[in-house]
Amino acid sequence: MTFHIITIFPKIFDSYFSESIVKRAREKKLVDIKIHNLRDYTSDKHKTVDDTPYGGGAGVVLKVEPIFECLKAINFQFSIFNFQTISKSKINKSKKTRIILFSAKGKRYTQAEAKRLAKYDNLIFICGRYEGVDERAAKHLADEEISIGDYVLTGGEIPAMAVVDSIARLLPGVLGNAESPKEESFSKKNYLEYPQYTKPKEFQGWKVPKTLLSGNHELINDWRNKQSKGSIKLKTQKSKRKATT
Ligand code: SAM
Repeated sequence: MTFHIITIFPKIFDSYFSESIVKRAREKKLVDIKIHNLRDYTSDKHKTVDDTPYGGGAGVVLKVEPIFECLKAINFQFSIFNFQTISKSKINKSKKTRIILFSAKGKRYTQAEAKRLAKYDNLIFICGRYEGVDERAAKHLADEEISIGDYVLTGGEIPAMAVVDSIARLLPGVLGNAESPKEESFSKKNYLEYPQYTKPKEFQGWKVPKTLLSGNHELINDWRNKQSKGSIKLKTQKSKRKATT
C-alpha cells in the first residue's frame, strides 16, 4: 500500500511516521509513504498555493491548480491512474487508487471506512489548510471527502496521520500479532474491547479484578464479554446524553 500525502507542511509528518508501527511497516516495505510539498507544484516565484475566496469572506483557500499539477506529477512518476483522460467530472483511475480530500464537511471516518480503504493499492490524501480548498478539487479531482470528526482542525495533516495509522495497522504483517486487529474495538459490529490490566495486582489500593487473576479462562472470557457489553451500553448512554445537551 502506498500513501501519497499532498501538504504545504511536509515536515509535520517526519516524526510520527518515523516511529513505532508505521516506521516498522515502512522498513518491512509493507507500507510506503510519499510526502508531496504542494508548493513544488506552483508556477510563480513566491510559490503561491492560496488566494482569497470569490464572493469575499475571511482568509484564503488553497488553489486548485497546484493540486491538479501535483496529482499529474504523482501520476507521471508512479502511473497509478490515467490522467490523460480527465472526464468532465473525475479523473479516470484504476479501481486501485483513491484520491481523498480531508474536509470537516466530509463523510465521517470510522473503522469500517478504514477497512474499506485498506483494500486500495494507492491512497492519495489532499490536506487542506486555511479556510479550506477550492471546491473544484473536491468536485473534479477527489473521489471522496473525509472528516475525522465533528470539529475543525487547522489542517488536514492530523487527519492524514490518523487515517494512515488506522489503515496501516490493518494491513497483513504490520502488527506483530495478526490476531490483534480481530479483537480490537470496532472489529465487529457494536464491539468495544473489555478493560485490560497489567502488573502490579494492586496499586494505591486499586485492585485488578479477581476474575482476571483466577486462571480460569472460561470465567475470564465470560467476564470480558460482560465488560465489553457494558462498555457499549455506557458509550451509547454517553452519546445520547451528548446529543440531548
Ligand atoms: N472553513 C472550513 C470549514 O468551516 O469547514 C474549515 C477549514 S480548516 C481550518 C482547514 C483544513 O483542515 C480543511 O480544509 C481540512 O483539510 C482540514 N480539516 C479541518 N477539520 C477537519 C476534520 N474534522 N476532518 C478532516 N479534515 C479537517
